Amino acid sequence: MVCVEGDLIGCTYNTLRCQSCQLDMGFVLYSAKSLAYLRGLFCLFKDKITCYLLQTTATVEASKVTCPVVSLKEHVAKLKKSLVQVHMRIELLIKKLEEFNQRRITCEESCKGRPYGYTD
Ligand SMILES: [Zn+2]
Repeated sequence: MVCVEGDLIGCTYNTLRCQSCQLDMGFVLYSAKSLAYLRGLFCLFKDKITCYLLQTTATVEASKVTCPVVSLKEHVAKLKKSLVQVHMRIELLIKKLEEFNQRRITCEESCKGRPYGYTD
């Protein structure tokens, strides 16, 4: 479905519909320019759903529940930092492996023709 008006204008999405009562409960965005950070997430309409609270075992309207804001930017920044660290480790390991291989080749060349275990 492509939206032509409202907040989802220009977005391609699938509607999330309750199988029991056929009520539209939310959507999943597939392509979006301004809402790209919501792509692939299940977005639910708070006024259409109820929540079961695990801590109190109470059932309440979602519109009365305060959901903590999750900052994707923070997660992405942490992920980028980890990615840079892993990249640096891999580069260091590649460098060490190249040095090891070079030493092995040098050793093999200098040991040619000598019986195994022979040293000067
Ligand atoms: Zn329903």
